[in-house]
Amino acid sequence: MRVARGYATTDQVAIGPAFLAVRATAGDRCPVMTPDPECELGRLAETVARSRAQLDHILLDVAGHARQEQLQILKTHCLLLADRRWEERPHALILDKGYSAEMAVRQTTLELIAHLQASDDPYLKERSVDIEQVAERILRNLGGDHGLDLAQVPNGAILVAHDLAPSEIIRMQPGKVAGIITDLGGPTSHMAIMARSLDIPALVGTENATQTIQSGELVVLDGRRGNAIATPDPSTLRYFHREQQREHAEERALGSLRDLPATTPDGVEIRLLANLELTREVRRMAHYGVQAVGLYRTEYLFTDATPPSEEEHYRAYRQLLHGCAPHPVTIRTVDLGTDKTAPILDVETEKNPALGFRGVRCCIAHRELFVPQLRALLRASAFGHLRILLPMVSTAAEVVAVRELLHVVAVELSEAHIPHAEQVELGAMIEVPSAALTCDHIARVADFLSIGTNDLVQYLMAADRTNEHVAYLTDPLHPAILRVIREVVRRADRQGVEVEVCGEMGGNPLVVPLLMGLGVKALSMSLAKVPHVKRIIRAVPYADAHRLAVAVLRMDETAPIRDRLERFYQDHLPEAAAASALKITLHAQ
Ligand code: PEP
Ligand code: MG
Repeated sequence: MRVARGYATTDQVAIGPAFLAVRATAGDRCPVMTPDPECELGRLAETVARSRAQLDHILLDVAGHARQEQLQILKTHCLLLADRRWEERPHALILDKGYSAEMAVRQTTLELIAHLQASDDPYLKERSVDIEQVAERILRNLGGDHGLDLAQVPNGAILVAHDLAPSEIIRMQPGKVAGIITDLGGPTSHMAIMARSLDIPALVGTENATQTIQSGELVVLDGRRGNAIATPDPSTLRYFHREQQREHAEERALGSLRDLPATTPDGVEIRLLANLELTREVRRMAHYGVQAVGLYRTEYLFTDATPPSEEEHYRAYRQLLHGCAPHPVTIRTVDLGTDKTAPILDVETEKNPALGFRGVRCCIAHRELFVPQLRALLRASAFGHLRILLPMVSTAAEVVAVRELLHVVAVELSEAHIPHAEQVELGAMIEVPSAALTCDHIARVADFLSIGTNDLVQYLMAADRTNEHVAYLTDPLHPAILRVIREVVRRADRQGVEVEVCGEMGGNPLVVPLLMGLGVKALSMSLAKVPHVKRIIRAVPYADAHRLAVAVLRMDETAPIRDRLERFYQDHLPEAAAASALKITLHAQ
């Protein structure tokens, strides 16, 4: 029995065989010549066939939810791989020159690319990238190595990887993969957020899971304690099987809250909203009893080599607005940068990307990216109640600049007789210290404010949220964070503007009474958190929450604050706390 520790994205338990996914460097260390051409020919034929089958499988797998452009790329790869030249030319090179299969594929790739580059047709020239990607797949398969081809993860397995891009997690189907464990990442990294939104239990930032855990061995992902236990002994395994049964019973019980309001026993209503990453999640909202969207992150529309077209933006937004009408849908304009990189941004070259060209800064400068998004948003506004949210706002001037641009776009649409709503609310995220301290100025030019606690914690604590070595500092219960939230709510209140919280903190049932006591009246969270948060709201009189906040604001250390919140939770929801009979870690939320 071995244990790897990390930061869990949920307090659930997951059990399954480990599937170790190692990112292969295509063709690395491959032999150049072969003493056995017949054997190489066999390897080659088998590998090309396997690569074709993989691509067909991926295409089928993602057909229902991938973007048009992603499908197009996959189809192009299928067509390219169907070309007999992938077998004939390497075949000749193996027999005539004694090349290894890897070397023969590399040589063939170079020849095919040279051929395309000689063409005058820019479209054909661009296909070189596809040729390289197809070659990479064949080389990876020749190496007998598993690249991160997530289609290969068996049902019920726990995927163990060094790192995963949000665009890789997007392809996973909840219910298929039992859990994810990674070496890298912090609790609010986008890898973690994406796993949470797909309702896949994940443990990130273990530093060494890929070394500790072996492929095929049984693993328990214990979200409450943030542990991954490899090859548990029989009594440990029995314990976690019982825990899983208890969790299922709890989920069923929470289902009974679906149609009840999120109202405290003394009658104060807290608005609960959904954080969505993918448009397909809109179908799951009714199941969790939530009608409005507080944060739709649009970064995942930007995972391809080219930015989404206005039409692609429009289709996604219309689907959301239509699905939720007449309830409000808050769509955040694209927040690229840091771990939400996109191939279209050259963020690698920035020395300090988290402090660099991120969020609204990037949008204002890159009109060619931003205007199609704004046009699509306004066009979609005809289908429901749209609110636009700006990320990474540092000054009120940025909100004013976007409002002016939005006005220009609206006039253009009107002149072209394209329908759109007359008024669309424009909000600002409060996630940068300068915005927090001047939120009263920002509230004069914005229609609503939403606190992004993930970034607010990162920037107030000067601790990179993607870096597991400083994850211990990214604690939302640090007194500095709590004081700033209290200040933001107060200043916004004076301007008559409501404040929402849409960072991970807002979906943490232990912290929710404190946020209520600090005056927050709207919380946005990933769908699976909604029933847990609603249960605590219904159990806590507002007056108690207020007293809790007053007491906590007098405290100056994180640890006693955490103890206080745990005691408060146990006092108000003794059954839920006793059922788990465990200390619930804040990071686990
Ligand atoms: C936040 O920073 O809290 C937030 C909600 O935005 P993101 O996690 O996408 O940066
Ligand atoms: Mg943020």
